[in-house]
Amino acid sequence: MAHQYVYFFGADRAEGNKNMKGILGGKGANLAEMAGLGLPVPPGFTISTEVCDLFYKNRKRIPQEVCKEAEKNLAKLEEVLGRKLGDTKDPLLVSIRSGARASMPGMMDTILNLGLNEKTAAALVAKTGNPRFVYDSFRRFVQMYGDVVLGLRPVKKDDVDPFEAIIEEKKRERGIQRDTDLTADDLRDLVARFKAAIKKQTGHDFPEDPMKQLWGAVGAVFDSWMNDRAISYRKLYDIPETWGTAVNVQAMVFGNMGDDSGTGVAFTRDAATGENVFYGEYLMNAQGEDVVAGIRTPLPIVNLKKDDAKSYAQLERIRHILEKRFTDMMDIEFTIQQGRLFMLQCRVGKRTAFAAIKIAVDMVDEKLISEKEALGRIEPDQLNQLLRPIFDHAEKDAAIKGGRLLARGLNAGPGAATGRIVFNSVDAEAWAKRGEKVILTRIETSPEDIKGMNAAEGILTARGGMTSHAALVARQMGKVCVAGCGELIMDYGRRTMTAKGRTLREGDWISIDGTTGQVIEGKIHTKPSEVLQVLIEKTLDPAKAPVYQTFAKVMKWADKYRTLKIRTNADQPDQSANAVAFGAEGIGLCRTEHMFFGEGKIGPMREMILADTLEQRKVALAKLLPLQRKDFEGIFEVMAGRPVTIRTIDPPLHEFLPHEEREQRHVASEMGISYEKVKERVESLHEFNPMLGLRGCRLGIIYPEITETQARAIFEAAAAIRKRGIGVEPEVMIPLVGHVRELAHQERIVRQTAEAVMKEQGVKFKYLVGTMIEIPRGALTADEIAEVAEFFSFGTNDLTQTTLGVSRDDAGRFLVPYVEKEIYAKDPFEVIDRDGVGQLMRIAVEKGQKTRPSIKLGICGEHGGDPSSIEFCHMIGLNYVSCSPFRVPIARLAAARAALLSGPKAEANHKKAKKARAAKNRSGLKKPVR
Ligand code: ADP
Ligand code: MG
Ligand code: MG
Repeated sequence: MAHQYVYFFGADRAEGNKNMKGILGGKGANLAEMAGLGLPVPPGFTISTEVCDLFYKNRKRIPQEVCKEAEKNLAKLEEVLGRKLGDTKDPLLVSIRSGARASMPGMMDTILNLGLNEKTAAALVAKTGNPRFVYDSFRRFVQMYGDVVLGLRPVKKDDVDPFEAIIEEKKRERGIQRDTDLTADDLRDLVARFKAAIKKQTGHDFPEDPMKQLWGAVGAVFDSWMNDRAISYRKLYDIPETWGTAVNVQAMVFGNMGDDSGTGVAFTRDAATGENVFYGEYLMNAQGEDVVAGIRTPLPIVNLKKDDAKSYAQLERIRHILEKRFTDMMDIEFTIQQGRLFMLQCRVGKRTAFAAIKIAVDMVDEKLISEKEALGRIEPDQLNQLLRPIFDHAEKDAAIKGGRLLARGLNAGPGAATGRIVFNSVDAEAWAKRGEKVILTRIETSPEDIKGMNAAEGILTARGGMTSHAALVARQMGKVCVAGCGELIMDYGRRTMTAKGRTLREGDWISIDGTTGQVIEGKIHTKPSEVLQVLIEKTLDPAKAPVYQTFAKVMKWADKYRTLKIRTNADQPDQSANAVAFGAEGIGLCRTEHMFFGEGKIGPMREMILADTLEQRKVALAKLLPLQRKDFEGIFEVMAGRPVTIRTIDPPLHEFLPHEEREQRHVASEMGISYEKVKERVESLHEFNPMLGLRGCRLGIIYPEITETQARAIFEAAAAIRKRGIGVEPEVMIPLVGHVRELAHQERIVRQTAEAVMKEQGVKFKYLVGTMIEIPRGALTADEIAEVAEFFSFGTNDLTQTTLGVSRDDAGRFLVPYVEKEIYAKDPFEVIDRDGVGQLMRIAVEKGQKTRPSIKLGICGEHGGDPSSIEFCHMIGLNYVSCSPFRVPIARLAAARAALLSGPKAEANHKKAKKARAAKNRSGLKKPVR
């Protein structure tokens, strides 16, 4: 048998089905599926996507054998309907519809009412007795054909459509406003004028022969596969050119036959909320895209109950049939011809994140899909929407319509926040204490702003990227943050902020949407998410929180399938408690230095750094010891026996130093030394490249007493907790190790201190000593390091900096263009660079396990909360990932998806994407790399 290029559908049977999108295109495959289900689909046939390829190989002509096959199918269609194309008594009209494998909305145009000419139109008038309907259809046909096939369309964006211009002219002449007021004679005259315009423009008569019309239209659909719109859409969504489009030829049904006819679009569930209700719009006496074109205002679908109860009931039934067959929420198109319903299209519907989650969960309850399938349908980042405070929708829309949108920055910390502008951390705290809601508005933030950030509802910065200090800390705190909003001009001195020519002052209300990056003038009401009200604020009864229940189900399923453990990065008891509420199973990174910015600690810390002698240093450390011990006790208590990884001091010392004279004088008087001395000491600690300077384990090696004090604080806290009968499992982590001897040096101090404390306190507790793998030498010599380390935690922030030789704090200026030029596919500080940084991780895992098969492996860099990076961590066999408290649920889901979907397949996908990118770069479609 010859190869099949054309597939028939209709009359309760079909040669194709929904799994044949590759050759039938999405529209054709689903039309066939619906016909096969016995749904009322106007019959027709699909010319396969393979023909698209042949068309281009055959100098844009349709091969003879395909023409023959199509003509046979046309004959069959005519037989089924008892009408013939071009017949002068009872003519058949068809639509010509494109349909690629992936939906490319609006990319190629549909031609309706094909087969009309002067004779068939007259026949149809005689048959229907409805000349208005006939000439309305005719003028639509000539207009669409003229546009799509003959190329009469506006060239530039501001050009008027030549046909619309003619319609406007006609309406002016007749003194009417609406298209619906045009009479049959008017429409007939429009057909004549359209044809004249075509003749004038192209030099050819409008084709009267329906077969000529048909092949012209089919050719135009194939031709449109390579038009500019289609090409740029494909590029945007990575749709291969080789896929081609199919062409559907389908018998027309008419929604424009009068008030008992109509057309509409609908979703089988609410695409915004996910609610299981029928949702859609329709128009009576209308055709094609009238509903979405906005010429007339369509009615909500429930009204159809009144206009046509029978069709509505039938649609309700079809809605359930389709969901059952496709096991998803569907987007449908339908037409009613004189009280008879016809289905014209269905496809899986687009939806908000909120709806995606709800629908997936509901469909498990309805036994339409399995738990695993549901997890596969929810993108981890979509969970963010369930956790975030939200703006009152109507209020926000009104604000934007009212011109209050000031600027747009990076959506660094999702959620909604509204408050009064303050320009520094001290004010933020003071105002918050008075009960004011504030937005901390800074050019950028630094560690000194932490308290102000904590006090604020949200954080807005003019500079910095998605991994800037503000963004990072905001995510850890779960704060709303819009970062890098370059349009804002801040004047700290005058306490003003200017954007779009408007100046806002300290105390003015502002609203920031960290989900979209929008900055809006004035106050917009917000409310916390249900999930937070239940888990964190504990102000809402879970039984009364449907959104929370949806969330909890997703989490329960995720935990069932994941193999990675999820920990959190937290250094305060309250953060730790939040993380536990979100499901954290331990702390993967407790940064001790963050504690030093807390109440009363920065003073002794500065004294310690500025000390000249060991004795002075010990005095300062003695002040710090009890403060740190208390911090650790608080965390251990909350974590109740879960492992807690505590990193010894890491940042360059200058971050703690007083840089302003006033502060330096204060420290001097505290220490009883001169201001000059302090100033001199601060200057002497200056480093040219502090990120690569005296920091990490180097500090502990130069000043062993710091490590000793920290270890003592940790272990004394552990002992105290143990004595209270609470479990405790500290893991002491030494940062920035590149050589095993660095670790060995620090390990000795830690273990000696542990032994001493256990003896002094008369209790025993388990503890581990391990290291961060965050510089390449550490990864490359991981076998040696594992001789000492009981665990590795990948510090992928520094590992990325040192592997790429890129300073994260300075990368903003070039990393964005890098990603635009596709030098890196993604920002390597957000998504692990698998081929570079990831390779070092693989080496370290392999070497570490060789020396110590039981070695515990985790990640504590920002990547620990990124779904793609989590998948990678799963693939290379880490035991856990650690992320900020508010990302714990996201990580749980990402870990489950990695367990369900990754493995060899994920690896292959990654390689495929990489190859596609490379090919795209080579073909020069993107801007070349300069
Ligand atoms: P798109 O790919 O842009 O969705 P379609 O091929 O679905 O384009 O056509 C657009 C609209 O034209 C449909 O929604 C439907 O209203 C109308 N249409 C297409 N084919 C027919 C037909 N055979 N009978 C009646 N209306 C049709
Ligand atoms: Mg459509
Ligand atoms: Mg580090």
